[in-house]
Amino acid sequence: MSELLTEPVDVAVVGAGAIGACVALECAEAGASVVVLDAGDGWGTGVSSGNAGWVCPSHAGPFATLTDLTNALRWMLKRDSPFGFRPSPALLPWMLRLLRFTVDRAHAQRVSAALHELAVESLALHAGYGARGIETGFQRRGLLDVYQTAAALRSVPADATVLNADEARAEEPLLQGRIAGAVLHPDEAYCDPARFVRAVGHAAETVGARLLTGRRVSAVRRGELVTDAGTVRAGAVVVATGAGTRALIPRTPIISGTGYSVDLASGQTPMPARPLFLKEARVAITPLPDSLRMAGTMVLGRDPHPGIDRRRLDAIHRAGVEAMPAWSGSQRSAGWAGARPCTYDGLPTVGWTDPSRSVMVAGGHGMVGVTLAPITGQLVRGIIDGDPDPRVENLAPAHRRKTRHP
Ligand SMILES: Cc1cc2nc3c(=O)[nH]c(=O)nc-3n(C[C@H](O)[C@H](O)[C@H](O)COP(=O)(O)OP(=O)(O)OC[C@H]3O[C@@H](n4cnc5c(N)ncnc54)[C@H](O)[C@@H]3O)c2cc1C
Repeated sequence: MSELLTEPVDVAVVGAGAIGACVALECAEAGASVVVLDAGDGWGTGVSSGNAGWVCPSHAGPFATLTDLTNALRWMLKRDSPFGFRPSPALLPWMLRLLRFTVDRAHAQRVSAALHELAVESLALHAGYGARGIETGFQRRGLLDVYQTAAALRSVPADATVLNADEARAEEPLLQGRIAGAVLHPDEAYCDPARFVRAVGHAAETVGARLLTGRRVSAVRRGELVTDAGTVRAGAVVVATGAGTRALIPRTPIISGTGYSVDLASGQTPMPARPLFLKEARVAITPLPDSLRMAGTMVLGRDPHPGIDRRRLDAIHRAGVEAMPAWSGSQRSAGWAGARPCTYDGLPTVGWTDPSRSVMVAGGHGMVGVTLAPITGQLVRGIIDGDPDPRVENLAPAHRRKTRHP
């Protein structure tokens, strides 16, 4: 097969999403020659664009809690619930491992602590992008978790500061629907996710990275990747293909968690002061510069759920309008779908996949890939430079193999 690039590069990144963009920026800034290949037509055409854009250490944790699993059993039978799944042989072992890790409280605590630490560092990196001229729409206004029922409010951790209904409405006067209370995370933030990926990608290009669009990679192997238009030789290949990672690295523990979002036109929609999370409905609401976004749903499957399930999308919109009746007349967009790359233990998978240390995976960030993208870029750069952050040991594919959970 002919060569797509005549010269080898130091680092070839597959995937131009949030993770690929941050990896490319870090590696190019370190002086490496970098090429990014994506099957789409630019930066951020995967799940990284239409999501809620939260930079939220408070939401970084295991994939599911025991309460989530109990709810999921109930929700599985409801076609408009926040959870569903597409049965496939690949899903069954993943679900059994999910069950095993979810009931292990010590594991949940370890994952929460590890992800929270990384997310707090990543939040600081997000905040620093503006000073470097990388405009991502970053805003640090805090996040408000809103509880509609007293029963759900009782699940709040003991150390959280709980607001009663009146205090929550004082924080967010638009909350005129049923509400039992809320928890404010004052230090957390959000960005405009599509702008984030484009801005970081363009910053990477400014320091020398090249983006090749419309290039689907069909295989990665030692020192080389293969596309239908030819091969690329590279010192290191970083696979950052999100929910599509299994197609290139079959033994990776990532499956798809399809989610949806719907935008309301900003001119007609009173904007909340900060992002809101409707706990029971699992709906994240973000005041973006040009629209108000409502995002949610998790449909698990080996591959993304095709198209948009209108019943679930309508349920997201309904939950938002019930909580904030002032939005009932706003025009809504047709909707967007994207597949989260989910691991059963909630930890992303970052590290070499082969003993020759030439192919790396950086994926499986589940519900917090935007949050963790900048720190993931740094972790990958450290591994390639031969100076890895000690914390990557627990994220490495070899670690899961050692614990017999590939
Ligand atoms: C509804 C919803 C709301 C969310 N809200 C948040 C949030 O508020 N905060 C947060 O932190 N996270 C959130 N997430 C999760 C977040 O979107 C993801 O974790 C993150 O975007 C994953 O980024 P990625 O770069 O790994 O994947 P992607 O953005 O999907 O990028 C992968 C890229 O790889 C390319 N690709 C795939 N296969 C190939 C191939 N073979 N050859 C070439 N290119 C290929 C794709 O075209 C794509 O561009 C949300 C997700 C959803 C669905």
